[in-house]
Amino acid sequence: FLSEAADELDIEAYAIGGFVRDFFLKRGKAQDIDVVAVGSGIELAKKVSEKLPGKPPVKVFKTYGTAMLKVFDLEVEFVGARKESYSEDSRNPEVERGSLKDDQNRRDFTINALALQLNKSNFGKLLDPFGGLQDLKNQLIKTPLDPEVTYSDDPLRMLRAIRFSSQLNFVIEPQSLKAIQENATRIDIVSKERIVTELNKILESEKPSIGLKLLHDTGLLKRILPELTNLEGIDEIDGQKHKDNFWHTLEVVDNISKETNNLWLRWAALLHDVGKAPTKRFNKKIGWTFHGHEFKGSKMVYQIFKRLKLPLNDKMKFVQKLVLLSSRPIAIVDEDVTDSAVRRLVHDTGEHLEDLMTLCEADITTKNPKRYTKYHN
Ligand code: ATP
Repeated sequence: FLSEAADELDIEAYAIGGFVRDFFLKRGKAQDIDVVAVGSGIELAKKVSEKLPGKPPVKVFKTYGTAMLKVFDLEVEFVGARKESYSEDSRNPEVERGSLKDDQNRRDFTINALALQLNKSNFGKLLDPFGGLQDLKNQLIKTPLDPEVTYSDDPLRMLRAIRFSSQLNFVIEPQSLKAIQENATRIDIVSKERIVTELNKILESEKPSIGLKLLHDTGLLKRILPELTNLEGIDEIDGQKHKDNFWHTLEVVDNISKETNNLWLRWAALLHDVGKAPTKRFNKKIGWTFHGHEFKGSKMVYQIFKRLKLPLNDKMKFVQKLVLLSSRPIAIVDEDVTDSAVRRLVHDTGEHLEDLMTLCEADITTKNPKRYTKYHN
């Protein structure tokens, strides 16, 4: 239908972006396809709809000059090929009509700039001006243009680079990594919603520590979640040390990700020790203590969710509860809990007991197992 419609309108049409990338990676079933028309994307969408059984409605987004068509459970997004130019203080570019090459130039990564022609005479022809196919083979995240320009134009791309690296287990090429480090402060102009979308995708990847480590190394994590980077480091007084709670946290997140796809449980693992930075004290008799860190940590969960504009709903309460109880697994099975606040919480943990156990297990593997004998039994 697409080929026919494009040929009838006498415009070039291409599938581009994530669909083409995932097609070559043989990665899962596509949920959406981006189609670029060298001409009007909206006209093309309308023409395709006319040809489809039942003539599904075309959703037009006038401001962006795009249109969306739902074909069975596939969302097809149509856009006219465009050229973009950016200003200092905004991620939103000035847009004008352009060629396919202009449209490929505005893409974030070479692996996302691959285009497959849809017109009948050249159906399936690959247009790959930046060597994206080779980068897919080499498992490399690389920008089509100068990385300095790409990341500074739209700083969200820094997070997207790290997210793709985490999802696909690809390496970010050194010039890109350097440009991200240099532009890290520009993340401040990206909306919290977009930051959270990428953060969630990192957390949902098979080994989230890949993305979290990159966020840390580039200086982005310090700006997005300073509560986590504050956990880094080992202090020593009178020959006594404590563990590095930042790198420990990354281990716990990886551990839990092997056990569950539950995003909120992964968030709980990420935040389970945040209360330790502000409660850290040294006591001459007993050494390092983090007294009350679980209470502090669960309060911090609220502050973090609020700052990142994450919904302050049951999911947040779930994360708070797990953060509060993760360091007190003994309390769950110990009927003789003296701490009344903990006792109250244990009482209403109920349905989340299994999730709590999963978190404690993920935490345990990096701690002294002796402390948990009672919990295990
Ligand atoms: P996924 O669906 O897994 O998130 P995707 O690549 O389809 O991956 P989208 O956010 O849907 O991601 O973007 C579609 C395409 O649009 C990308 O492949 C890329 O070519 C382009 N794109 C998206 N965001 C940007 C951006 N910030 N800068 C440049 N190009 C972008």
